[in-house]
Amino acid sequence: MVETGAQMNDRAAVGCDSLQPTIGGLPSTVDVLVVGLGPVGAAVSNLLARYGVRVLVIDKATDIFMAPRAIALDNEALRILQLAGVNEGDFETVAIPYVRMRSPTLGEFGKGNTLGSLDGHPKLVTFYQPELERCLRNRLKTYNHVQVALGISLAGFESGKESVVASLDLGQGQTHSVAARYLVGADGASSLVRQLIGLEFKGKSFTEDWLIVDARKVPHPIDHVEFICDHRRPTPHMTAPGERERWEFMLRPGETREEMESDVRIRELLAPWGNVDDMIIERKAVYRSHARTASAFNRGRVFLVGDAAHITPPFAGQGLVAGLRDAANLCWKLAWTIHGRTAPQVLETYDQERRPHVKAMIKFARFMGKLVMPRNRVTALVIHGLLRTTRRVPQMRAYFEELEVKPKHTFRRGLFVGGHTHSRLTRGAVIPQGWVRGPDGTTCLSDDILGTGLALIGFGHDAGTVLDACTAAAFAAAGGAVVQIAHRGQRLHLAQRGSWEDLDGVFLPRAVPFGWAAVVRPDRMIVHDGPAIDANRLVRESLALLGTPVNATAHSAEYALPSV
Ligand SMILES: Cc1cc2nc3c(=O)[nH]c(=O)nc-3n(C[C@H](O)[C@H](O)[C@H](O)COP(=O)(O)OP(=O)(O)OC[C@H]3O[C@@H](n4cnc5c(N)ncnc54)[C@H](O)[C@@H]3O)c2cc1C
Repeated sequence: MVETGAQMNDRAAVGCDSLQPTIGGLPSTVDVLVVGLGPVGAAVSNLLARYGVRVLVIDKATDIFMAPRAIALDNEALRILQLAGVNEGDFETVAIPYVRMRSPTLGEFGKGNTLGSLDGHPKLVTFYQPELERCLRNRLKTYNHVQVALGISLAGFESGKESVVASLDLGQGQTHSVAARYLVGADGASSLVRQLIGLEFKGKSFTEDWLIVDARKVPHPIDHVEFICDHRRPTPHMTAPGERERWEFMLRPGETREEMESDVRIRELLAPWGNVDDMIIERKAVYRSHARTASAFNRGRVFLVGDAAHITPPFAGQGLVAGLRDAANLCWKLAWTIHGRTAPQVLETYDQERRPHVKAMIKFARFMGKLVMPRNRVTALVIHGLLRTTRRVPQMRAYFEELEVKPKHTFRRGLFVGGHTHSRLTRGAVIPQGWVRGPDGTTCLSDDILGTGLALIGFGHDAGTVLDACTAAAFAAAGGAVVQIAHRGQRLHLAQRGSWEDLDGVFLPRAVPFGWAAVVRPDRMIVHDGPAIDANRLVRESLALLGTPVNATAHSAEYALPSV
């Protein structure tokens, strides 16, 4: 949903440690200029910083946006935040055990089981967006090669063959020019960057307005997410950290923003959940939702991420999550191109990989919207009744309840070697993540041992021993690391260094056969897989795909491969 003008001004610093505006000392050249320090721009800046890229990130606002927006994140989003250096406990979350869909006539007609974890993270959590943004901003302070400049707007840019030269408006008639090798537009739904590169924002704007209310100290809190799918007043309601609860009330025809945001109206709306005098009404805002996607996610050296590239109705809780997927997909490709580890053509796969999934997610959110806000009583009875009936069929029940209905994050085309093997790994999809234990007894999540580069993972096998010197050198030059994962208690078959036990059986034998190997990208997507004895071929084919074929990069047969 796009914020209203009034909400745009509703900004305040979160905590005393938010970043200070930087006006003086702006650089004249950087690797990447990030426009917009919302949550997605902050995630992009953190990821680029981790990959050693020199970043200037600007935002026209001086403080974090405080109006109620994202509240839910899934396991994929949490995993990407982990990649950006944000770990469990760095910001408060509440794990959601289930999502209920309720009809006033039929009762519960649908449910999603979100209890437990997937790939090392809870399947669904709620959180407080300003706190996550503060956390991401604080992390940026730890990098010397990242400069944050607040209160500065992008005014325009010229895109050339070698760089993008941007003009920054510093206020009071002052301007500054900066040349960047790449520009990332993370400037939200009304993106100037998108307009300047002449891309359409195709899709639909809905006619319904929604009042969002965040309250604290609610007398009878819930521990889950529920959608009250009453066609007269659809109302999603959920728990959130800090003793918070959120309600979203769809406005009826004729109801105005002013009326709905009034204390009297909010008191009436919240009456079924308790006396408003006992609650603290923290935030309220009226939004309208949209389903739009930019006609491309990049043009030349300019890339769009987050709401600048796509906006979705909030029913699937996927707006920010999609922006984080953009960040994970794009940042390593930019870094690898800047560091000369890959051919610039690789950057074209950002649009190819991300846009179809974004569209599928928007379609899913619109499907959820149809369940949440049926047009009238008859439609409500038909679609809610149909969904309730399908629950009698075990496969259908599992499809909905175990979230199989949610589009998989798997590429149809992109930067992976096509084809299938008999392993349960999918090329062009994310590698599973689980807890592993190292030789010294250290336990951690498996992504944390893969490093920030390419990884060759040998399952029950030291795949690094199979590489010839030339391939090993090329792989190391491309930032490759070799990791071995063994059954719990079976590490003795492997070299001590770089071997890890699969503590929860996430990889072996659930996903991967013993003696298998996979090449994994920095964003944890699988490029290639096959028997570990073919690791040499797997690595060579993966490097060729990245535009760094073995002969082009291998200089030293002595080059040592890092083992983690
Ligand atoms: C009611 C509601 C509920 C939602 N619930 C969820 C949810 O549960 N889960 C979920 O994943 N998503 C949810 N979303 C979506 C989520 O909030 C957004 O997708 C996310 O905040 C977008 O982040 P962003 O960084 O892309 O854009 P923004 O947060 O909009 O940031 C853009 C930044 O760019 C800056 N900027 C703009 N123009 C310029 C310029 N010319 N120069 C410099 N700076 C500029 C702005 O000041 C701003 O700080 C929800 C949204 C709403 C409204």
